[in-house]
Amino acid sequence: MFKDDIKLAMAIELGRNNLNQKNLTVEQLISLRKKAVIPDVIGQRQLLNGSGGNPWFVNDQFITNIEVKINATTPSWRSAAQLAISNFNISSLKSITKIQIREVSEGQNVTITETGTTNSNPEVIADAQAPRYTLMPPGQYLVAPGSLVRIYNNHDYYTLEGKTLAITHELGHIIGLAHTNGFDSDEIQIAGTAISDSFSYMNSSISFNSSFEGFTNNDLIALRTMYPKTVGNWERLTGIINNLVISSDNVIYSTSLVNSSLDKDIQYWNGGGWDIVGNSYPNLATKIALLNGFTAPYYINSLKEVYGPFQYNYASTKKLGIEAVDIAVSGSSDVYIVSESGNGNIILQYNGSNWGQIYTASNPIKISAGVNGGLAYIDVNGYFHIRKEQYSSFFSSQSMVMKEIAMNGSAGVNGHIFALGGNENASGDYQLFRWTGYDWYDIGTTGYNVAVDNQGHPWIAKKNGELYRNQSL
Ligand SMILES: [Zn+2]
Repeated sequence: MFKDDIKLAMAIELGRNNLNQKNLTVEQLISLRKKAVIPDVIGQRQLLNGSGGNPWFVNDQFITNIEVKINATTPSWRSAAQLAISNFNISSLKSITKIQIREVSEGQNVTITETGTTNSNPEVIADAQAPRYTLMPPGQYLVAPGSLVRIYNNHDYYTLEGKTLAITHELGHIIGLAHTNGFDSDEIQIAGTAISDSFSYMNSSISFNSSFEGFTNNDLIALRTMYPKTVGNWERLTGIINNLVISSDNVIYSTSLVNSSLDKDIQYWNGGGWDIVGNSYPNLATKIALLNGFTAPYYINSLKEVYGPFQYNYASTKKLGIEAVDIAVSGSSDVYIVSESGNGNIILQYNGSNWGQIYTASNPIKISAGVNGGLAYIDVNGYFHIRKEQYSSFFSSQSMVMKEIAMNGSAGVNGHIFALGGNENASGDYQLFRWTGYDWYDIGTTGYNVAVDNQGHPWIAKKNGELYRNQSL
């Protein structure tokens, strides 16, 4: 902390400086832009303590324990505030930053309140105070989060999703973030963020007719830069494996890399090592998928034959009369395959006796399934497509070329979706990324095969068969 800041803080705390009012005035920070969207070319930005001042970093003792009291009384605004707090607790953020925000009923350092009125600029939905100095412990000045988020009730017509996005944005301000598309002199670009990020929740021109789908790659880099947390090590597990799959009830299978043919032995993770399930035809596979409650897996082999468990005999398999190049089973027991057809690949879903086409998929090659219809695939060009639960169509991203995908649980904000792609290294491995809801966050490691356990932690197998997991991600 700089000398002038301390002097100012003391003056403010003692009420001797007219900056007291100025500094503690709630900043008008968010406004609905019904006009043309302002081009976003400036990257993620951090608030400064005045023009040319120092960046506001909320002190460790506050950033790891932000306690929010929700004084809003309108049910939808209360729910939006709770959902906004939970947005700051998703794995993508929590695994890489020390930010911890929770709701309390008293003793708060942040209050979310409804004004019951309209801001002097009627387009303002909500506003928030920037970080501030606080006297704690006595004689020591620390930076606390902005203490107030205000809601303007002329915007009650927004959906819960829009309101949640607005409060999530305001919580960004209270910990020191400025607008992604800002240009004021009391802001600075955060190191490592790209110059453009139109999906950022801190963009003041985001549409509140949309929803918060996650922190973008740049949002995560910004918050990791401001409030970093040490990520735990990758733990090496026993075995040399190839294809790896983890069911939503955490049953783990792989194919062994030991068998030198295209088709590999199927093996089961016993918690400390691998037990071979099948090592003779037809119990050899290129790709496995697991149905909750069944000990026998679904799998396909290099002849594209599809096998699955007998409906009434959970431990044995039968050949299903169809060919596939990939297979996935969801946590809701939906079985999907990627099948070749005269017009490119298609996704088919099994109903126990017949296969029906999912029409909106566009030439898929790799597939992974979540729950309740959540589904992701990579197309033949390596582009990623994701369908959230209860949706009929896919959101597509061409920001990266991917090779492998894995998901477990939701396809939405609370989801855990990882992919391998980007640049191949000298060992034949690819970069590991986490799907943010909009784009890809680089985890900083490499692998050849990926799976996600039901806690959301990634497991990777290297090209050479070495197996690792990271329970801090
Ligand atoms: Zn704002």
